[in-house]
Amino acid sequence: MTHALLPGATIGILGGGQLGRMTASAARRLGYRVHTLSPGTDTPTGQLADREITADYDDLNAVSDFARGVDVLTFEFENVPSATTDCAERYTPVRPAGRVLHVCQNRTREKRFLTANGFPVTPFREVNTRNRLGSAVRAIGLPAVLKTAGFGYDGKGQAVIRSDSEVDAAWASIGAGDAVLETLVDFQCEVSVIGARGVDGTFTHWGVVANEHRNHILDVSIPGAAVPAPARERAVDVTRGIMDSLDVVGVLCVEFFLRADGELMVNEMAPRPHNSGHFTFDASVTSQFEQQVRAICGLPLGSTELLRPAAMVNLLGDLWAAGEPNWSAALRDSYVKLHLYGKNEAKPGRKMGHIVAFGSDHMDARKRALEARAALTAA
Ligand code: AMP
Repeated sequence: MTHALLPGATIGILGGGQLGRMTASAARRLGYRVHTLSPGTDTPTGQLADREITADYDDLNAVSDFARGVDVLTFEFENVPSATTDCAERYTPVRPAGRVLHVCQNRTREKRFLTANGFPVTPFREVNTRNRLGSAVRAIGLPAVLKTAGFGYDGKGQAVIRSDSEVDAAWASIGAGDAVLETLVDFQCEVSVIGARGVDGTFTHWGVVANEHRNHILDVSIPGAAVPAPARERAVDVTRGIMDSLDVVGVLCVEFFLRADGELMVNEMAPRPHNSGHFTFDASVTSQFEQQVRAICGLPLGSTELLRPAAMVNLLGDLWAAGEPNWSAALRDSYVKLHLYGKNEAKPGRKMGHIVAFGSDHMDARKRALEARAALTAA
């Protein structure tokens, strides 16, 4: 086993968002130093870091300086260019490796990888011209979803096509560039598995999480998804297989669609801590953030056991529409934990924070989390 980077070492994080913030929080608790680089200032990660560097990801001079000043580097933002991680890898270990990010940040590459390695994936066709889109529609049928190959998240760069008359508008709306056309899956539920893999290949996971989306954005996550055992086992096996194939060191999330007939399909992968794993911060022996730190530093991985039933709900900027939400009202339930990311500007759809609630079981926890959120804006 490669020697471990012990507490006191410096972890670099490319990206300045909430995923970096929570990773920084776990890292600092373990006694690591944290540096972050992103184009922003006073970022959610920067607020908790020892050093915040403000630079564009394609400023390779800044990236080399940054990489030289840390003992290991990770990323919390999926659209960091390959040239950036390639540059950083010359000076310090990047975990997960830049090539993992390269596969996952582009839907075409991601689907090619999944198909080539025999993992189940939503039926799709690659599309790069209007003509090809026409053939793809004929091949996979409608309804379907057209998605840009790169830079898409939370439903951005996506258009649902339900009839031939909508094809032109969909093509224009995604910017007429590289894309994939997928079958619109009539799923029973959406689930995710967050895996963590150490430098020695040890694999841990937090089980299967049930996810509810609103307007294509994650809304509620509940651990211990009530899905049949074969689907549960398959979801974990697929996640482990993906992480082994890509030789991932660190945390990676796989999002799945589960159909009523039990068929499981990978929707997408994210090679970093994931919103559907935020409950682990409060509810698990080891959170996804601490596990990320342990994995990239070559420490033994911690237990992922759930301490008690919990559920998470996201807090989007929309909650600020009528002014500051009523935080005291949400915290009246003493089994509610509030996380705010320190973002200065609340915009509709922007992830500003989340709530984790505990309950007698997961559904009770879900109810309490939703009630706490409703209390934020109750008259
Ligand atoms: P994505 O950005 O690909 O994760 O999509 C965001 C959300 O849109 C997913 O979590 C689903 O709720 C929905 N969605 C995306 N692709 C499909 C699909 N092929 N079939 C059905 N729903 C989809």
